[in-house]
Amino acid sequence: MTQNSLGDSVVQKTVQAQNNGVAATATHTQPLWLLAEITYRCPLHCAFCYNPTDYDKHTQNELSTEQWIKTLREARKLGAIQLGISGGEPLLRDDIEEIVAEAHKLGYYSNLITSGVGLTEKRIQAFKDGGLDHIQLSMHDITEEINNFITNTKTFELKKKVAAMIKSHGYPMVLNVVIHRYNIGHMKEILEMAEALGADYIELANTQYYGWSLINRNQLMPSKEQVEEAERITNEYRAKSGSKMKVFFVVPDYFADRPKKCMNGWGEVFMIVTANGDVLPCHSARVLPNMKFPNVKDDELGWSWKDSPAFNKYRGDSWMKEPCRNCAEKEKDLGGCRCQAFLLTGDAETADPVCSLSPHHHIIEKAIEDAKNPQLQAQPIIFRNDKNSKKVISGELEERTKEFHALP
Ligand code: SF4
Ligand code: SF4
Repeated sequence: MTQNSLGDSVVQKTVQAQNNGVAATATHTQPLWLLAEITYRCPLHCAFCYNPTDYDKHTQNELSTEQWIKTLREARKLGAIQLGISGGEPLLRDDIEEIVAEAHKLGYYSNLITSGVGLTEKRIQAFKDGGLDHIQLSMHDITEEINNFITNTKTFELKKKVAAMIKSHGYPMVLNVVIHRYNIGHMKEILEMAEALGADYIELANTQYYGWSLINRNQLMPSKEQVEEAERITNEYRAKSGSKMKVFFVVPDYFADRPKKCMNGWGEVFMIVTANGDVLPCHSARVLPNMKFPNVKDDELGWSWKDSPAFNKYRGDSWMKEPCRNCAEKEKDLGGCRCQAFLLTGDAETADPVCSLSPHHHIIEKAIEDAKNPQLQAQPIIFRNDKNSKKVISGELEERTKEFHALP
């Protein structure tokens, strides 16, 4: 699962036009998107994974099928119309067919976000019969070597077979490729591969640095020149190819002058329910200090969304400090990402340091310089797996993580 699977994603843009006939009457007091992070279990071990580094804390008490169905119903009553089923790898659960069918009955536009591992002819047919609208498949590179290296698995051939299976069942082919130092030199070839696979959409999602990708930032971050070249190739491809394939290039925060309006605003349109039932306004929110998030096992979803202290904490702009408080641009980005601000500065209420007006912007500049340092680059990647998550929790990886302020 990647951060870019939400927000400005192709799915979101597509779904705006196709919401199963459900009137898009949502206002700022209603969630439009429900993301079900249905399990943190995953057969892949991606170096850039957006899941929390301490996810192992949350793997023992996954919600049951009945609890998910109740959550779907309550969220639909609140106005949610788009459902993302994500993880971890959602296909590791054997009740996705049931959840998909219920989502369809409730009128959701549903999207399965998957690595492809576990997708079989039988399952995809059941998804089709149950009314699943959309499947988003992650791909990693044109080479088997880099695909297998960055995911720490042997999944290259499988992904191509799954792509063909998705296409043959009449689904729009939506590919997501996380871009980092190891594949950024292959942009043209990645685009050609996507076209050859019959992709309708491809999201080139530059790595954003949260979760595992923050720990591996020095190993993953490309240079500014590489990002610019990748964007140039993408634009050239768009102009020349005449292909029907829509190409989205998500600019990495660290190389932008201004932060993004994270999650389109805290508690504005996105609601995330995690594997163990926590209700969050964004994937990373549990890194923030002094916050108690609601949980669907104990709290009514309407209260969680409308009235819980956690969802109200960063709504609007009254929490802002300078320079955001009196900034002429604050409506555009709402001060950026609270998690990124906290992770990098230790202060969740300061401007996202990505912003060139932030007094902490030098942290971003230093990170970009650090990523060019051969000694730092040479540190081994810490892959996302249960063993390493346990080490993060126990503090065994402290030597490595302490350079990233405020990491657990
Ligand atoms: S390890 Fe990879 S496939 Fe699994 S959740 Fe993380 S990014 Fe997705
Ligand atoms: S100072 Fe704050 S509100 Fe202004 S552009 Fe930067 S992050 Fe956005």
